[in-house]
Parts: sequence; C-alpha cells; structure tokens
Amino acid sequence: MQSISLVAQTSKFARVALPVPIATCFTYEVPKDLRSRIFVGCRVEVQFRRRTMSGIVVELAQQTDVTHLKPIRRIYDTFLPETLLRLTDWIASYYGCSFGEAAQSVLPPILRKSSRPAAMSGILSLTKTFDPQETLSMLKRAHKQRELAGSLHDSGGSATTQTVFHDWGFSLQHVKSLIKKGIVELVTRSEQSHLASMEAIVTHLNSDQEKAFDLIRRAIMARRFSPLLLQGVTGSGKTELYLRAAQLALSQGGGCIVLVPEIGLLPQAMARYRRALGEGVAILHSRLTGPERFEIWRRIEDGDCRAVLGPRSAIFSPVRNLRLIVVDEEQDDSYKQEDKPRYHARSVALMRGKFENLIVLLGSATPSAESLHHAQSGRYGHLTLPRRVKGARLPVIHFVDMRGAASGGTILSAELVERLDATIKAGHQSILFLNKRGHARFVLCNVCGWVAKCRNCDISLTYHRVVNRLKCHFCGYNESARRRCPTCDGRSLYLGGVGTQRIELDLASLFPGVGVLRMDADTTAGKEAHKRLLEQFGKGDYPILIGTQMVAKGHHFPNVNLVGVLFAEESLNYPDFRSSERTFQQLIQVAGRAGRASVAGEVIIQTYMPEHHVFRFLEAHDYDGFMKEELKIRRQLNYPPFTKLVLASCSASKQETLSRVVQDWAAVMRRQVRQQGVEVLGPVPPIVARVKNRYREQLLIKGRLKDDEKSKLRDSFNQVVRKHHGARSVEVRWDVDPESFQ
Ligand code: ADP
Ligand code: ZN
Ligand code: ZN
Repeated sequence: MQSISLVAQTSKFARVALPVPIATCFTYEVPKDLRSRIFVGCRVEVQFRRRTMSGIVVELAQQTDVTHLKPIRRIYDTFLPETLLRLTDWIASYYGCSFGEAAQSVLPPILRKSSRPAAMSGILSLTKTFDPQETLSMLKRAHKQRELAGSLHDSGGSATTQTVFHDWGFSLQHVKSLIKKGIVELVTRSEQSHLASMEAIVTHLNSDQEKAFDLIRRAIMARRFSPLLLQGVTGSGKTELYLRAAQLALSQGGGCIVLVPEIGLLPQAMARYRRALGEGVAILHSRLTGPERFEIWRRIEDGDCRAVLGPRSAIFSPVRNLRLIVVDEEQDDSYKQEDKPRYHARSVALMRGKFENLIVLLGSATPSAESLHHAQSGRYGHLTLPRRVKGARLPVIHFVDMRGAASGGTILSAELVERLDATIKAGHQSILFLNKRGHARFVLCNVCGWVAKCRNCDISLTYHRVVNRLKCHFCGYNESARRRCPTCDGRSLYLGGVGTQRIELDLASLFPGVGVLRMDADTTAGKEAHKRLLEQFGKGDYPILIGTQMVAKGHHFPNVNLVGVLFAEESLNYPDFRSSERTFQQLIQVAGRAGRASVAGEVIIQTYMPEHHVFRFLEAHDYDGFMKEELKIRRQLNYPPFTKLVLASCSASKQETLSRVVQDWAAVMRRQVRQQGVEVLGPVPPIVARVKNRYREQLLIKGRLKDDEKSKLRDSFNQVVRKHHGARSVEVRWDVDPESFQ
C-alpha cells in the first residue's frame, strides 16, 4: 500500500474502466487536489458522454497522448483490492466483456451506480389484518394496487421491494398508497438469521473422513493452489469436513469463503457454521438490501469477518489472507450468472485459488461431468466418502410406471397414495417433489385446443387465481381470464398443467385434515419466507411438504421417511446435452431427503419413461456407473468436458433481418476458425423462439479457443453489422461455458 501511494502522489492521469460494453478504458486527468488520494483499484466519479458514471482506476500514468481530457470529479472511499482487480481482469477476458462490466459484478451493488438514494427498500408484507375479499372490494377502482395486493398474496404474503419494483414493475406510488390504507407494511430489518443448529456436535471423524481430512489439512498448510473434488453421498459427512477445514483456515490466521447454491439453504447452513466458527461468519446474498450488503462488505474488508457464506456472488468477498474456498454442491447450475458478465462461480473460485495460492474444495454427491472428469484424469485431487455416517442406509428407490396408472384424474398413483397414508399413520413425514420448472397453469380449450398465449412471446400464459388474470412470465404482459374460448366461443376452458397448488388440492381431498406445506417460487418470495417454511416443516407439525426444485436441495429433516417424485422424466425432455446429468443429480438429491436417521427411507418415482438409462442407474444409486456412460456419450458427441462451448444468442424484432445477419455471421466465423478444429453450429431457434416481440436465433461455437481468439470471433460481428441494413438492431448475448440453452 505504501509504494502505491508514493506513485500516486505524482500521477497526473488515470485510466478508468467504465461499465459500458467497450473494451478500452478511458483516460482522465487527475486534478491536483486528488493526486495524493488516487490509486489503482479505487472508485471514481467521472463524466462519460454527458452522463455521470462511476468507474474503477486501472492504471495511473505521468503522460498521455490523449488530448482534451476531462477531470476526475471525485474519489469514493471504496475500492477493489488487488486480488479482486486481477480476478476482474480475468473475468473480462475469459467471458468476453469489458473490465468495467466485469467490475459491476465484483463490487457490491451499492458501489456500482453513482449514488442514487434508494427510494424504499426492505420487505413489503401484507398486514396481519389483510383479508382478500375485503381488500379486493376496497380497491375496486385501483387496479394496480389491487394487483399488487394480489401478487403479494400469491407470493405467500410478502416480497422484497426489489421484486415489487423491478420484477413486477409496480411504482413507488402504488406501494405508498397501500401502506397508507394499512394493507401493506414495510419491514426493514437487517438482522441476520439466528436459527439454532439442529445437528448434533460431531466429536470424532470416521475413518473415511479422517483420510479425506488429512489431505485437506495438508493442502491448506501447503499454501499452494490445490483443487480438490470431495465426492460423497448425501449424509456422508461432507459438511463436517468443510467446517473443520474452515476452522483450520481461521486458526492459521486466514479467512475462508464457502459457497452454497441457494439462498434457501442459508439459514440451516448459517447456524451450523456460526456454531463451529463463531460470530465472525458473514453471510452475503442478494436478498439483503444495498446498504446491508455494503456494510457486510466493509466488515469483511476490515477483517472483522473472516469467514463468508453465501451464493455465487460471495466469491467476490474481499476476505483478507484467504486460505480456503469451498464450493458446496459444485454441480449446481445456480453458480452460473445468467446476466453479464455471465461468469461461473466455480470457475471464478478456481481462478481465485490459483491467483491466491489456496485450496479450492469442490464438494458434491453428484459431481458435474466436468469436475469428475478432471478428478479422474488427475488434474484435481479426488477425495471420496462412499458411506453414510453412522451406517445409515441409502433409501430404497421404487419406480411406478405411469403409462398404465392414469387413475381417475389424479396425478398421484395408487402406490404413492398408499405409502403416503402409511407414513402419515406412522407419524413420519413425506416430501413430494415436482420435477418441473415453474408451474404451467395454462388455459386450454377442450373443444378446439386453443391455448392462451402471450401476445409478445412464444409462450403460454400462466393463470393466477387470486387476481383471476393470465400473466406472461417472460415479459409481464397480462390480461383478465376469459369465460369463453376466443376461437370457437366454447365454454369448456380447462386449466391445464399441474402445479404445486393443484397437488395441494388433490392431497386435501385424499387426506382431509392433514397439514400440507407448499414450497415454490410463489410461497418463498419474501426474505424470511423460506426460513419460516423450513422451520415449520422441521418442527414436524406438517406431515407433507410439497414443492419444486427448492425442496430438493440440502435440507435435513430426520423425520422424513418418504419422498415421492412426480413427472420424473420431464427434465429429460429438455433439449440440452446436460439433461440426463441434471435429471440424475436432481433425483438423487431429492431421494437423499428420505430416511437420514436410523431407518432406511423410501423413494417412489412416478414416470412415463421407466426404461430410460438414467432411471436404471438411479435405482442402484450408481452415479459413477451413470457418469461412465454419460462421459462416453459426451466424448462421442464432442461435448464438455471434452471441448468448450460459447453460445451466441441473437435477437431482433424483424425475423428476416435476424436470419440474414445471423447466417452471415455464422459464415464469417466459420471462415475465421477453419484451421483450428473449431465448429460453428446453427443458427437454430431456442425453445422459446420469440420473447418480448423479439425473434431469437442461436449459434453454438464448439472448440478450445484462447481468450483472444474468442474475442476476435465476437468482434467479427461488427463486420457483419456494417454489411447489412438494419443489422444494428440485432442484439448479441455472448455466453461462454453456457449452462442454459433457452
Ligand atoms: P453431507 O454434507 O455429506 O450431507 P453432513 O456433514 O451434513 O453430510 O453429515 C450428515 C450428518 O451426520 C449430520 O447430522 C452430521 O452432524 C453427522 N455427522 C457427520 N460426521 C459425523 C461423525 N464423524 N460422527 C457422527 N456424526 C457425524
Ligand atoms: Zn375453443
Ligand atoms: Zn410475454
């Protein structure tokens, strides 16, 4: 730090990275009075094309060829530490964006924009006295307010201001009116979760754990970059090893970062980490408000918090003297950021480990094909925990062939109903898992087959019961629900698709009086909602928990003996080379929820494709067997981990322009890579070929390319734009190592 400030005293010019999609940095003059305070990494305010922006200083200089320079306006007291600067640089060149854009993800959000006071921030909740009928009639004329109340009700009673303003598009005025009427209240608590840990304290590691921990200990002490894959079935004691590794890192005066895939897992994980590591554990996640995140960032930077727990963005925590990074459930696709700069937190973790010479511990029961391949080929260390702790048995998996079982309108097979009944009677709990993305409550005409679709997107509208409206989940378009089919004027409209709500109703009639909890995107929008639901189920008052992906992951409920999986094959039908892998991972994870105590649990999987190879290996709990076959297929078809992918998704409002431009771009790129053994596939339309009135086409680039070769390919788009009229309207989304092909 000393030497930097010495240089700084005399620097007259600064090159600043700005959050604009331009790769170059911009030179500014440093006014005299700021020269003693400026250094590489600090955040400054400048003017750029008449706009006030904040940027990061990436270089200081005595001279410059650039003339007519604007001055730096002010220096903020926040900055990017050197290691994060380096990481930002890597992200920019690897993922193909500007330094300024990459820095956007690395800095906590409040530091990104030039100071704009938050209008309102916290959790909006319906007040205790909220009554749907009364409120709806009270707000008869205030459409927007009624809709907001309805949306909050649909989401389990609360949502963050972020969701309300950004995702749902309501204005400050709508919210203020509802607060004034006493229908909604704003909660701005910053307190963090204080759930007590439900796990017993572990005194001795078992022999498998000892063996694995010995390697982890040595790797931590060696202070060298060491990527390690810890493969262990659910309940084999992986978390226990993370805790001990973290303790060791802290006892060495170092810090650690533990990444977990989902916010929903944080409360339970937090309790366990706090108990093991003390109060110096910070938790960082996107549902914290801007000021909360900023405060935590500062505490980490100051060294008050040396252990950080959080989802993908926690990888950018400015932890001092970092000694360990853990990536739990390393195969989870939530580690991929889908917005620019579209980084993968596992890759960033590995890179940070390389830069800072530390151990990166990737843990999973079902490692990604990529990590498993690296471990098997010796690039990563491979640690295994093949058995469950305390000899607990793996659950028994049964399949129900649904092709013959379609019984009287219900989606629950006779076998499953029978087992649910027995489990309830025995005083145990069950989890029902819907293997579906979202909840397709679409409206279908039974007579002519008409389906209510969005005007702007190639997708069906979703029915929302409380407000009686149909909504598009892509663009937000909505319309009131109809009574008659607009095509044939028939009255036989049918609510198709099966969501968690529908199953909840079915269960209510099958098991009257039995408590059912529902966990899905709707019921968990609020910051505390997840935690509340988990606590309720954990207490054991509710015999059945039903939900989507969220129930699959990591929760530990000792009293759960039965897991039912509905529509098991759905995710196999996704046009994605990872669909088998994802299905296996998800189902084994959800199966792992059953029977973690002394009794073996039971899993019932309902499917229309019982002979699929995923299910064959699943029945035997044979992940390695499945992966062997899967990797064979990947190698044959040349997919990752045997190659690398870049997905270029293009969109435009005119289909004809889009096709012309994309065809030509594909040809240009093919010429460019002719000698390199790189393929350019496409263009093909994605599953949803039109969103928000824009048509979409995709190109897939397959092959190992250096960063500069990749950026040449990306830049070749500019040549194409110059040739075609109207081509400027084509937007390109450049996704390196894509996880999603939608
Ligand atoms: P995983 O992360 O692999 O699912 P956990 O670390 O959560 O596994 O361990 C599963 C359960 O076993 C937890 O309740 C944990 O407290 C317990 N456990 C872990 N290691 C031991 C051990 N060596 N002795 C006794 N119990 C253990
Ligand atoms: Zn019709
Ligand atoms: Zn739409």
